[in-house]
Amino acid sequence: MSEVCAQCGALLPKEHTCQTIHNNLLIFESDNSIPHSIHFLHVTCFMVQHNLYSDEGLIWAQSMLQNNLAEDMTEQQHLHFLRTDGKSKTSRTRTWKFSRSTDAPPLPKVAWAMTIVNVSQQAQNAEQYCKQVRQWAHMTLQQLISLQR
Ligand SMILES: [Zn+2]
Repeated sequence: MSEVCAQCGALLPKEHTCQTIHNNLLIFESDNSIPHSIHFLHVTCFMVQHNLYSDEGLIWAQSMLQNNLAEDMTEQQHLHFLRTDGKSKTSRTRTWKFSRSTDAPPLPKVAWAMTIVNVSQQAQNAEQYCKQVRQWAHMTLQQLISLQR
């Protein structure tokens, strides 16, 4: 019997949850030396679709996705951007938390057009994986933006 993920609505393959797929993809990434920018998109999309960000974290995630995808950053630019932009908003100056607290109001349910299950099923090698993750990030970002209208 196939089950559906309660958070992102993905149809789950047998004996898997989005969390186990996420863990497997992290191993795949390190085994295949996947660039950090792709890893970043993967983790961000996973967190967005599983309601793991606070409201402030979600705004941050959206702007990070936007910058990463729009400017077609090189790996150096990506890391530099994370260091500078990430830093100004972390530790000392950041007063909010990334992760959603258990008593935070629930986020609206979204019928995500693409999920981590799609990514894992369609990526057979490193090159395809990078493509799939970028497409996933594009679609997630579009849906995030349309939520605010
Ligand atoms: Zn899920």
